[in-house]
Amino acid sequence: MREILHVQGGQCGNQIGSKFWEVICDEHGVDPTGRYNGDGSSSDIQLERINVYYNEASGGRYVPRAVLMDLEPGTMDSIRSGPYGQIFRPDNFVFGQSGAGNNWAKGHYTEGAELIDAVLDVVRKEAENCDCLQGFQVCHSLGGGTGSGMGTLLISKIREEYPDRMMMTFSVFPSPKVSDTVVEPYNATLSVHQLVENADECMVLDNEALYDICFRTLKLTTPSFGDLNHLISATMSGVTCCLRFPGQLNSDLRKLAVNLIPFPRLHFFMVGFAPLTSRGSQQYISLTVPELTQQMWDAKNMMCAADPRHGRYLTASAMFRGKMSTKEVDEQMINVQNKNSSYFVEWIPNNVKSSVCDIPPKGLKMSSTFVGNSTSIQEMFRRVSEQFTAMFRRKAFLHWYTGEGMDEMEFTEAESNMNDLVAEYQQYQDATAEDEGEYEEERVDDVDYEN
Ligand code: GDP
Repeated sequence: MREILHVQGGQCGNQIGSKFWEVICDEHGVDPTGRYNGDGSSSDIQLERINVYYNEASGGRYVPRAVLMDLEPGTMDSIRSGPYGQIFRPDNFVFGQSGAGNNWAKGHYTEGAELIDAVLDVVRKEAENCDCLQGFQVCHSLGGGTGSGMGTLLISKIREEYPDRMMMTFSVFPSPKVSDTVVEPYNATLSVHQLVENADECMVLDNEALYDICFRTLKLTTPSFGDLNHLISATMSGVTCCLRFPGQLNSDLRKLAVNLIPFPRLHFFMVGFAPLTSRGSQQYISLTVPELTQQMWDAKNMMCAADPRHGRYLTASAMFRGKMSTKEVDEQMINVQNKNSSYFVEWIPNNVKSSVCDIPPKGLKMSSTFVGNSTSIQEMFRRVSEQFTAMFRRKAFLHWYTGEGMDEMEFTEAESNMNDLVAEYQQYQDATAEDEGEYEEERVDDVDYEN
């Protein structure tokens, strides 16, 4: 068995993490007490790979392999008293009382650093219980203090202790459309600096895009976190589908990484989902394979505020769910690539993969989830970088961070690391097969000369 250990931190991380568990419990037929109560006809499929995310406890109960952490008790209290609150292992709730006050430095260096050993003890205990741990997934926001600062502290500690295990993150990027805390670009940039070095694959969930989807496509005039999180949990379920159910494509974290990451730093993925639905409305929507394919590739369905037509795809994967013809899926996917060939780098042949999983998400007959490594994601990094630089130029709000012992140098380094990342995306966006051809011709000339 190749187990995944899930960690959720901070307010946002705990909200989206617990939604993820509600959704996948439902898909695997696990009820709120942890008992299997599934669908007779698909029980084999529901249970075949259940150990990837769940431990089996005595009495045949399934317990999420999940660690919940926060620097204040509120969010975790409400999870505990929520519908699936009893399914988690009580010892795996680790929390403090101080809060991080939206300050990355408190999460990473002071308050969070005090609590981190308690979290690592629980992580270690879970890891020791695994047969063959494949890696970790962390849910957090990058705009606050705990999920962001303490979340990336945990990621670096895990990397130190488990250097050969995979680290995937579900990272929520901040947007002023959703939040009114001005220092979020600081927290996000300091986090990206960490994620570039210490995470293997990051699923980008951008509040700016989630807000736009709710407002423009779903016509919700005042989207709430609940509405945004509904989109996130559908996406998380789709992205992890190939890890949780039997199948060939991207069936573990390492295979997913191998298919999608041509250069190690470029591991930030755009994810898309179709059909988009608002809470409670999904049963009315039914789409065909061509419609699902078209929507899934559409810029409007991306959970990241960047337009893929402004860049090129290095790689992409699509996971279709439900009863449908694999042949039709393959044809539709080829069709998209043929019609839009200029949006795919020609120097990685066959850079789009697709698969079909029989089990659709709850309430839908079919769905599709898209994971793309697009150079256009630099648009989102540029947005955060501009917001960062506007304040940092005047050293605004810096005393909150230096007051926790941080050096200004770390801000400068984080800023340039993110700018380098943007430049790398641009470099591969501009690279063509011809560049490489010229290089090869030169080498052939060299050989001729030597002869
Ligand atoms: P922490 O508890 O210190 O980690 O701070 P938060 O998780 O509250 O981080 C604040 C950032 O997360 C801001 O960018 C918020 O817009 C965002 N955020 C907070 N809660 C949620 C949530 O439930 N869903 C989403 N999508 N974003 C959230």
